[in-house]
Amino acid sequence: MNDKSEKTERAGHCLCGEVRIRAKSASSSVGACHCRMCRRWGGGPFMEIDCGASVEIRGEGNVAIFSSSDWAERGFCRNCGTHLFYRLRETGQHMIPVGIFEDSEDLEFANQVFIDEKPEYYEFANKTKDMTGAELFALFGAS
Ligand SMILES: [Zn+2]
Ligand SMILES: [Zn+2]
Repeated sequence: MNDKSEKTERAGHCLCGEVRIRAKSASSSVGACHCRMCRRWGGGPFMEIDCGASVEIRGEGNVAIFSSSDWAERGFCRNCGTHLFYRLRETGQHMIPVGIFEDSEDLEFANQVFIDEKPEYYEFANKTKDMTGAELFALFGAS
C-alpha cells in the first residue's frame, strides 16, 4: 500500500539540462488538470505533482515566467521549452510536471481537476478522485 500523504524529495531537469529542479517535499500523488489553459499550454492535460513551496531551482537564468492569471504563473525553460512549474503567487506552491522527474514506482495517479473542462475525445481509465473547476475553487477559496 502506498501512503499518498507521504512526502519525498524528487529531482528532475528540463530536456536540455540547463534547468535542474529539486523538490524537497514532493507528493506521491499525480494529478491531472484538464482546464482549457493547461491544455493550451501543454497540448494535453497537465500531469503534475504538488511540490509545495520548498523547491530549489538551478539554472534560473534560463527560466522564463509567464503570468497566466491573477493568482498563478507558469515557468518554462527558455532554451528548450520544457514546462517547469505552475506556481501560486500567494503561497509559492509549485505544481511540477511529473514528466520532468525521474520515473518512480511510488507515484500514483490519484486525482483529476477541471473534469468539467475535459473534452470528449479522451478519457483516463484510472480510478481517480475527480473535481470540477467550481469544486476546486470552493476548496481552495481562489477564483
Ligand atoms: Zn531546457
Ligand atoms: Zn489547469
